[in-house]
Amino acid sequence: MKYLSTRDDSLSRSFNDILYQGLSRDGGLYLPQSWPKIDLLSLKNKSYEEVACEIIFPYVNENIEKLELQKILNETYANFTHEKIAALVELENNKFLLELIYGPTYAFKDYALQFLGNLFSTSLEMSPKKITVLGATSGDTGSAAIHSFKSKKDINVFILHPHNKVSPIQQKQMTTVIDKNIFNIAVEGNFDDCQKIVKELFVDDEIQESTSLTAVNSINWARLIAQVVYYFWSYLQTDKQQINFIVPSGNFGNIFSAFVAKQMGLPIGHLHIATNSNDILKSIVDTGEMKKKSVFQTYSPSMDIQVSSNFERQIFESLNRDSKRVNEVFESFSSKGFYQFDDSVLAKFQQIYKASSIDDSQTLETIKFVYEKYNYIADPHTATGLKVLLDKKDDEAWVSLVCAHPAKFDKAVNKAINKEIEIPKELSNLFDKEEKMTILPNSTMDVKNFILEKISNA
Ligand SMILES: *Cc1c(COP(=O)(O)O)cnc(C)c1O
Repeated sequence: MKYLSTRDDSLSRSFNDILYQGLSRDGGLYLPQSWPKIDLLSLKNKSYEEVACEIIFPYVNENIEKLELQKILNETYANFTHEKIAALVELENNKFLLELIYGPTYAFKDYALQFLGNLFSTSLEMSPKKITVLGATSGDTGSAAIHSFKSKKDINVFILHPHNKVSPIQQKQMTTVIDKNIFNIAVEGNFDDCQKIVKELFVDDEIQESTSLTAVNSINWARLIAQVVYYFWSYLQTDKQQINFIVPSGNFGNIFSAFVAKQMGLPIGHLHIATNSNDILKSIVDTGEMKKKSVFQTYSPSMDIQVSSNFERQIFESLNRDSKRVNEVFESFSSKGFYQFDDSVLAKFQQIYKASSIDDSQTLETIKFVYEKYNYIADPHTATGLKVLLDKKDDEAWVSLVCAHPAKFDKAVNKAINKEIEIPKELSNLFDKEEKMTILPNSTMDVKNFILEKISNA
């Protein structure tokens, strides 16, 4: 399998080339040149790790042996705390939850980032070099990445998060990892600012010359393919002909993985995007208008995003994989601050996607309702999806994703259900630990200088 870029469809790169690079030099995102098809029957009675191997292998076949991949996957999920790895829970007839909270940092990001860490280690053993992981986080990616890379040789990790805009547990999960190779940077800005800095550094020649920069945010292709697995997995746990998913969305990574699953042959009807008040995805899907909007802080900080990077991949797909048109879209968008997709493209979005925006008060009401009716405690991100799920008719199967453990967002959850929820010991212990982080202004130059200084000392 070779890879092209959303901004250059003539590109032909190997998986190893794109594994470390994240963003393409032309500013685009990588995608496979074609979609491999999966025979659903071949997945029957396989374990999570085996299903993962079948799904991921076609994307890495040029660089990794199948047995090696299986070994990486077995290691990756060995410490997950549920025997099913990802657990499907039936709430009511045709209404399901897919729990993705059994990794080390209690959010779905672990399913991909634990894999990425092991993938990097294996590949660095084969061809040794030093790499610098750089990422922006709205909370969960950062902690999942840090927990994946903390003990790894030859990897330095710089994670930017918006200062004081992640939950206290999310912050502690990152900053209490004091290993020498881990650097937490709190940026005085919001998540979109952090993401912008990271994007600028990836096309910065000076920094690229001093180190091998590596992306681990959800634009990284290897992460997306690891997430494709649990969509197949949840389908295999049911007896349905066709299935639909509701995905609480921010950067459009998780739901794009569902789209990939559909391209690979998983019988998905619709994908329903749930957002909080940061509703740019809803505007695009409802009206075709993509417009710069400012970011609100909500109870679901990992979705406080108005520039959903991975949506560029969907644009590329919906423009018939024509990178010339993608370039036109983004040139117009960055000069005018908005872009209007025409009706034929809008129709293509709507063939697959529906979208809802759920505000903070609806989020809390849903947490309360689900707790009282089903005795289930949902975190605020999950609750945006549950609101959509509860409103669905039961004539079709819908699966809504459980994105994080409620204890990570206990303030909002306690408020919703009017009592204190139990916090797992691993999380409450964080508050007794020493923290390590550096606060920097919202400036690409400052972040760049900080990184250059640290890696020259390492
Ligand atoms: C990352 C995250 C999301 C949003 O996922 P995207 O892939 O960015 O769309 C939602 N909920 C939680 C808890 C997350 O960590």
